[in-house]
Amino acid sequence: MPYVASFCSSHPASDTYSISRSCARSVTDEIAIKLLTSYSSSARLATTGIVGAGAATVFGFSYNSEKRRQEIEKRIRSVEEKPVPTRAQQIERLAAGEEFDILVVGGGATGAGVALEAQLRGLKVACVEQEDFASGTSSKSTKLLWAGSRYLVKGLVKLFSPASISSPAAAWNEFAGTWHMVLGCFRERTYMLTMNPHITNWVPIAVPLDKWIIWPPPFDYPPAALGPCTGLFVVFFKFYDLLGRYVAPSSFVMSSERARADFPQMDGKRMKYVSVFYEGEHNDARTNLCIAFTAAMHGAAIANYAKVERILFDEKGVACGAEVVDKANPSAKSFEIKAKKIVYCGGPFTDGLRQLSEGKDVKPMVNASGGTHIVLPPYYCPRHIGMVDMMTSRGSFLFFLPWEGYTLVGTTDVKTMPDLHHQVPEDEIQYLINECEKYLSPSLRVRRRDVMSAWYGIRPLCGDPNAKDQSSASRDHVVSHHPTNGITFVSGGKWTTWREMAEDGVDQVVEGHPELKKKAGPSKTLETPLLGTGKTDLFPEGYHENLAVTLSQKYDLAFDVAQHLVRNYGTRAGQVLDMVDQDTVKGSRSGLYKHYRRLYEGAAATTGYPYLEAEVRYAVNHEYAVTPADVLARRTRLAFLNSTAARLCLPRVVEIMAECLGWSPERALMEHEQAEQLLARDFAGPVPDKKGALLRSACTADVKDVFDHIDAEQKGTLTKAGIAKAAAELGFPLSQDELQKAVSEMDTDKNGEVHFPEFLAWWNSSEKSQGVHQKIFMGTRRGSRFAFPTHDLAKEYVLGVSTWLFDQGSTFGYRPEPLGESTALRGPAPDWSLGDSRVPLMHFQGHWANPVNATSYPGSILFASESEGLRFRAHLIFDSANLSLVKLTLENSGKQTAHGQFSIGGSGANISAQPGEEINFGLPNSSMPCFAPSLYGRGRLVLIQSVLLKDELQPLSWNVTDSKEHFEATSLQIDISPAAMATAFILVTPVASVPDRMDFRDLSDRFRRSIWRWEGYLQAVKAQLPARKSQLDKDAIVAWSAVKSVMTLLGNWRTVPGLPSGVLPSYIGYEGGFWSWDTYKQAVGMVHFAPDLAKDQLRLLVSARDAIGHIPDKVDRCGHGGGCSGKPPLLGWAVWTVFQQTQDLAFLHEMYSIVSNFHHFWYKHRDVTGAGLCSWTEGMESGMDDGVRFQPEFARSVANTTSHVTTLDFWSVDLNSYLFKEKKLLSQMAALLAYSDDAREWEQDAEALLPKLQNTFFVPDGDRAGFFSDVYFNGSALPIKGCEGFAALFSGVATYSQALRMANTLWDSNQFFLNFSLPTVSKNNRFFNAQGYWKGPTWIDQTWFAYTGLRSFARIKGNGSSVFAGLASELKQRIFRGFVSNDTTRLVMMGEGCHTSSKSVRRMYFRERHTARTPLHEHYHPETGAPQGVPHFSWTAAHLLMWVDEGNKTSSALVNEDDVTWI
Ligand SMILES: Cc1cc2nc3c(=O)[nH]c(=O)nc-3n(C[C@H](O)[C@H](O)[C@H](O)COP(=O)(O)OP(=O)(O)OC[C@H]3O[C@@H](n4cnc5c(N)ncnc54)[C@H](O)[C@@H]3O)c2cc1C
Repeated sequence: MPYVASFCSSHPASDTYSISRSCARSVTDEIAIKLLTSYSSSARLATTGIVGAGAATVFGFSYNSEKRRQEIEKRIRSVEEKPVPTRAQQIERLAAGEEFDILVVGGGATGAGVALEAQLRGLKVACVEQEDFASGTSSKSTKLLWAGSRYLVKGLVKLFSPASISSPAAAWNEFAGTWHMVLGCFRERTYMLTMNPHITNWVPIAVPLDKWIIWPPPFDYPPAALGPCTGLFVVFFKFYDLLGRYVAPSSFVMSSERARADFPQMDGKRMKYVSVFYEGEHNDARTNLCIAFTAAMHGAAIANYAKVERILFDEKGVACGAEVVDKANPSAKSFEIKAKKIVYCGGPFTDGLRQLSEGKDVKPMVNASGGTHIVLPPYYCPRHIGMVDMMTSRGSFLFFLPWEGYTLVGTTDVKTMPDLHHQVPEDEIQYLINECEKYLSPSLRVRRRDVMSAWYGIRPLCGDPNAKDQSSASRDHVVSHHPTNGITFVSGGKWTTWREMAEDGVDQVVEGHPELKKKAGPSKTLETPLLGTGKTDLFPEGYHENLAVTLSQKYDLAFDVAQHLVRNYGTRAGQVLDMVDQDTVKGSRSGLYKHYRRLYEGAAATTGYPYLEAEVRYAVNHEYAVTPADVLARRTRLAFLNSTAARLCLPRVVEIMAECLGWSPERALMEHEQAEQLLARDFAGPVPDKKGALLRSACTADVKDVFDHIDAEQKGTLTKAGIAKAAAELGFPLSQDELQKAVSEMDTDKNGEVHFPEFLAWWNSSEKSQGVHQKIFMGTRRGSRFAFPTHDLAKEYVLGVSTWLFDQGSTFGYRPEPLGESTALRGPAPDWSLGDSRVPLMHFQGHWANPVNATSYPGSILFASESEGLRFRAHLIFDSANLSLVKLTLENSGKQTAHGQFSIGGSGANISAQPGEEINFGLPNSSMPCFAPSLYGRGRLVLIQSVLLKDELQPLSWNVTDSKEHFEATSLQIDISPAAMATAFILVTPVASVPDRMDFRDLSDRFRRSIWRWEGYLQAVKAQLPARKSQLDKDAIVAWSAVKSVMTLLGNWRTVPGLPSGVLPSYIGYEGGFWSWDTYKQAVGMVHFAPDLAKDQLRLLVSARDAIGHIPDKVDRCGHGGGCSGKPPLLGWAVWTVFQQTQDLAFLHEMYSIVSNFHHFWYKHRDVTGAGLCSWTEGMESGMDDGVRFQPEFARSVANTTSHVTTLDFWSVDLNSYLFKEKKLLSQMAALLAYSDDAREWEQDAEALLPKLQNTFFVPDGDRAGFFSDVYFNGSALPIKGCEGFAALFSGVATYSQALRMANTLWDSNQFFLNFSLPTVSKNNRFFNAQGYWKGPTWIDQTWFAYTGLRSFARIKGNGSSVFAGLASELKQRIFRGFVSNDTTRLVMMGEGCHTSSKSVRRMYFRERHTARTPLHEHYHPETGAPQGVPHFSWTAAHLLMWVDEGNKTSSALVNEDDVTWI
């Protein structure tokens, strides 16, 4: 059924729709419109003059703004605030069977507005909302109350475009519509900002102009290209001021200097100048509530969580009511609401409502368009000014606004389906981040983890269901009336025009109903202020601009809280404070304000959220909050500002709500769970959820890498041939059609070449990416049939042939080894420690002209050979701890069909074959009882019975022969045509019963996933490398160290059946087990690329803690904790760093009590003197095991009554320094977890301890002067300067001047500044021994602690900055680039060294990749840099990664804050 509708929009009247009333309101509008409608094509040249005259006329009608302000103020202050009925009263009334004049369905801005408008006109109104008020689009807008500058510009551009010359009348009509709409917006904006000052504010918006001529021109309008140099923008905004009758502050221009001062975040240097104009801003959900409750205050029966499920009709088929269900009450029955007229205000859900009254097949009229916003920390935008990018890569406007103290960025515009709980697309978040960077200062990089919250709203754009062109959805509203069922709907429009829409809607409703027409008075909304401006008992003077000051003074309330309350509740703020639980109010430390319990107490430590717990009670009792999400998302806006903080507050919100609403524990639990799910679904946070994301990479820089990869010749452009080649290389050859389509989609300027911006736009285009784009790039990830991606990043790093490969916590390890002339696969080697028994030795046999060569890469070993025209490859990779895969390929590179066979042989113990399928072999029994011999004592090698040939799977049978010590397996002969490839799989597993039988397809998926897993690790490490590189080896040494470190850590990854995974210190020649001191550091090193493993390892360690909270030094390979001694308390540091990287609150929560118990353990059991300082046990407990200070001549055991062990007779500087820092960290953790009392106590503890540490441990004079030292109980220092002193730097214990003196000691080449600097004991100590365990060698971890401390002090302004920075930089240089010794520059980390200082030779050195074979060692000779101790040492690797990460900021989500430490 067609609707008869009226449009207040730019749409001309159509056959189906007719304009039934003028939308013009004021005299001003009438005149302006008359002026414009008198315009004709012949007068086109006089346009400017007419517009100018119009403007002058408008100006003539503007009146003294001060007088008007006073009038309005008087009006709003004269209103009496009355009580608003409770939700329960409203539901009772709605269900009582009373007949209403109007039933409004939908409680967004539009529905609440219609309810208010109708109620004020004297009608009896009911209004129901299925979820919460504003839970639809109305809480998810850009928060602007705007007069439509964009539409005006677009309208003018269209009017003056050459195209309108051919049809001037149509062009004129269209412009008149736009003009009309814009004037309406001005009026509404003025109403909101002047009548409702408590909930609105003006916001200046900067338009940065970085070029004198913009090309391509804005709005595709060539004259606009000259906008910046002709001052067109400035003139336009002056005209805009004029149209707004100067109610808003006037637009102005900022020079680039001023822009730099006022908006330092903007890349001011690049700006020619900046034009600034004003719009209104509000808190949309709160405004929505305000409208709804104002309607309720005036008598409307209005309720949320009241869903219309059925429309009721009378005998003539006219709608006369609705069946409604109270969703807030699980046991409530549905009830009927009778009404003379029904108005749908369903926003994007209007079609859903129409289906209720017209059936499922009703033709849709909503063109839903989704928009994402992100919220960034406050520092990205000044508090007083925003910015708009009018030239985004997608052509839409992007705002960058200060909102509620944070930075709001948005929005996007993509076609979508209506959905009340739409997940936020990760691609859209990435797009916004990338766009932000365009105008921001180069010193700022927006990182993915900066996104504190993100949400997705759906515009209810309405199209004419009968119009041919559906593409141009109107931004304006539609009021439409169904001729037979009598239902009216109001939809489309903008937040700004809610009142105008409501007025039009009610006009239309009464127009069609004589009885209501008689009853209804004129519209009153324009003169009615919303709730919160009128007089209350507390504020009999009504709202005024200093209300926040008055409130702060009356209640001794912090000013930020007072401002927030006034802005949200106006003169009702006092009622909120009545809800405060007085027992919880405390005096503050400053004595100025009282402390009212905030909802998020973490605020004090981080950034301010002024929400009070009392607001939760107020929300439940007075603002119809039904669920915890109502409180967190729409009464307060915490979920919109910081989704993590919202989740943290959830338990407390549930607690208070349960108290107010009398929820049972079960109900409270259910509410908690539902809210948690809703918050997780509707709001994104700092950690990306890449499920379903089409963007392969995190940011523009990554897409550029892909572009560069395809642009192999580095021309800066892509060609069709290049794309075809890249696609083929990636394993997805494109058909001609697909290629043509891809290129034409990318090449938007049709010049035959694809430039990076075009490629980026194409890449980011979600619609296009569903086609061929996805096939090329996504297929490699998601898996198109049998395509195998290549190890692109891994292939950059050849590891040589002697490297053992372990991965995924594997039980087996492999290594390529020479066998005769060629190379064979050694392994699987069981039992972790790599005993001598390595079976079977797999040999890929063949009659090759060249021997089979093997190469190890990060994550895989590759065997290859070639005979005339036939290439062979065997590629080994790990799928899991118990499964490794070998992919075999034969490729015919010749011109004739080749005949090939796969042939594998091997030797070992107890070999037995099952015919054709698998070979079993015996392994030496593990020494570890947790490895059951029946499962782990035997392995099997499975030959998969299929071969992939030319994308077709064919059967492949194998002939297997075996003796007890030897086997051979040969496949059927395969005919391979030219350019074709045959692919087969074998797999190796130690456990007879697993895995389940897998076919070729399973294996190809697993193989592909394993390759991408490795690419992921390397990508993550790459993201941490200095920002200037775009390829891993731009800074080869750092890059190499990073890759080597990843390899080392993952090579030490071991899984014990049934326990969390972990990383051992070294897999060769080292006592097995997970050591606490190593574990802390490994977790911090790994969190950048394997965060789950990092968390698991910490879990594994703490799982062995004992009843008194003590964490043992070592957990053996079967998961048993051992020994009573422990290592320094770095657990807090590790947990905090892992949390910072992953933002995993559940993990933080899980660990908090464990960390705090372990912390308390030290003071209970190691503070033997009761001085508040702790000592080590005699069991070498420090992590500096055999250090000089533990020698009997220095350390004596003392009886310890409080401890279960004996302690030494001195206080340790490193133990106490780490404990100090842990207190600080625990305070931060507690604040974040909303344990506010804990947070305060930890902080106070730390502050009290600090001077004691500074006075006790620093040695001001004597021969140990200028250093921190362990101190005997009698107060005298131990005669040792060693690495224990570095802890005081690292943990921030040292005062500035102490640190400066220490730095000078560290610079001293007689003490610590050796070639490979910072030995474990100073060189001038008589016990110094460069090769003695903990008596001289340099340990990378200790160097890192000292380095990090120096860097922290370097960041403090003071006379020592250059000393700290210089020393830190020199230390880093020496670690990564070598030092001068015997006139030879040595690259220390490369072990054997590189005997040249020449850059080109160094480069060659890397090209030759000799370094690959040098493992990272446990420690190094402090003078020669020669490696010492155990190779493949994990903590060395972990600390190198910390160095790599340190100081590098990129936009990748995996990259840490400026510093991984705590200062
Ligand atoms: C990304 C974005 C940015 C925007 N920015 C701005 C801006 O800066 N300025 C501006 O002026 N405008 C802006 N808008 C537009 C503005 O937000 C919307 O026009 C406005 O919020 C629409 O309000 P509404 O009440 O029509 O729709 P909604 O707020 O979606 O309300 C419709 C309501 O109907 C309810 N409903 C549906 N079915 C039923 C049922 N069976 N029973 C009961 N209730 C039901 C829904 O639950 C929903 O709450 C923006 C929109 C988007 C998406």
